[in-house]
Amino acid sequence: MINQSLKQLAAALATKQISSVELTQLFLDRIKRLNPELNAYITLDEAKTLAQAKLADARIANGEATSVTGIPFAQKDIFCAKGWRTTCGSKMLETFIAPYDAHVITQFDNAGAVNLGKTNMDEFAMGSSNETSYFGKVKNPWDKERVPGGSSGGSAAAMAARLCAAATGTDTGGSIRQPASLCGFTGLKPTYGVVSRYGMIAFASSLDQAGPMAKSAEDCAVMMNVMAGFDERDSTSLQRENEDYSRDLNKPLAGLKIGLPKEYFAEGLSAEVAVVVQEAIAQYRKLGAETVDISLPNTRLSIPVYYVIAPAEASSNLSRYDGVRYGHRAAEYTDLLDMYCKSRAEGFGAEVKRRILIGTYVLSAGYYDAYYLKAQQIRRLIAQDFEAAFNQCDVIMGPSAPGTAFKIGEKADDPVSMYLQDIYTIAVNLAGLPGMSIPAGFANKLPVGLQIIGNYFDEARMLNVAHQYQQATDWHTKMPEGI
Ligand code: GLN
Repeated sequence: MINQSLKQLAAALATKQISSVELTQLFLDRIKRLNPELNAYITLDEAKTLAQAKLADARIANGEATSVTGIPFAQKDIFCAKGWRTTCGSKMLETFIAPYDAHVITQFDNAGAVNLGKTNMDEFAMGSSNETSYFGKVKNPWDKERVPGGSSGGSAAAMAARLCAAATGTDTGGSIRQPASLCGFTGLKPTYGVVSRYGMIAFASSLDQAGPMAKSAEDCAVMMNVMAGFDERDSTSLQRENEDYSRDLNKPLAGLKIGLPKEYFAEGLSAEVAVVVQEAIAQYRKLGAETVDISLPNTRLSIPVYYVIAPAEASSNLSRYDGVRYGHRAAEYTDLLDMYCKSRAEGFGAEVKRRILIGTYVLSAGYYDAYYLKAQQIRRLIAQDFEAAFNQCDVIMGPSAPGTAFKIGEKADDPVSMYLQDIYTIAVNLAGLPGMSIPAGFANKLPVGLQIIGNYFDEARMLNVAHQYQQATDWHTKMPEGI
């Protein structure tokens, strides 16, 4: 059961091969067995989860099932879920019980899906290794001495260890695609504005986007059909007609033009990862695709630009944690200002503080033009690079991350080398484009992801491109040994 696709699970539930309560219990038992070591989930609530499964069984019995009714999903702990502790990986929200549901949670609930629990993540989604979580490191099921990637590291480990049928993540600079690459599964960051950010705890609002983390492109399509759609409560949610993300899965790829950016195969990319990515591209040629060499000349600027814009937005978003309305409040203080300062000093971890400092600095009167405004201008150039590239090709391919999963602690004291994890993913967020990562093979027994970048709203085509590869190869079916 744990290896079945969402479609197969829905069929098993429909034909009463298994009930939702049984399926959910099966995952809960796995979580009980494996989570103490992996630390993929921060919060579990068996009673709530099983109550949802019971409701789902009734719904299935009534013939009112959707494509995900009764299927257990893991939810990243960045999504507010009513009655659930929602921490965003921070001490600041250690005891916060969300009073309402994020749009994404509502969509899954309305479709009758089961919420297995809230997954671990880097604090406020700031990180690439899950090491900044207040709730501890997450281990990569492929090698427990290594990180699962981040910030959606808990969802990633839960995917690799099959502690859920599928999971949600969010991606501000790579947090769905990089962990998907390091843990060997399929993840999609949609076009900015396609999935509502309502109730998703804000990190950098102009970059944050939620998306599916699943065993295959086909499963991602099923989840996109649940998650996407207009929501008036998010002013950046796009008013578009609902689409069926599965509609093009089976189209042949003959004639597909794949752009290969020279900057994505240059210095900084591990040689073993490069080999795997080239083999995947060779497979695409066998499937009838053509490749064209392209250039994204401003790639090297994407990290510095991101580390001005994202902290600027974060410093503003995180100003709401003042110890007054909700979140951590210091036990002792002398006056109001002291209460703000102590609450924030105690509630936030080191990486979050670093970002707040950078953000406040680049937004300050004397430096705004030199840093923030300049970064916004370069952001536009980065988007234009992609615009030009998509005149030459249908999709862009390259590595998702520069290497495979690294050792826990290896980069913890070197923020810049950690920030470089997102060198191939961050520009996609800056441009607002959709990007995905699919398993493409192994280097030193660790998973390697192939990144597929599409033009705006081209998710259905990207899922098609990924699905055809997954029909021809079996990398996406591989599981860590002993799990
Ligand atoms: N690793 C990047 C950061 O630390 C991106 C994180 C994300 O996508 N949420 O900001």
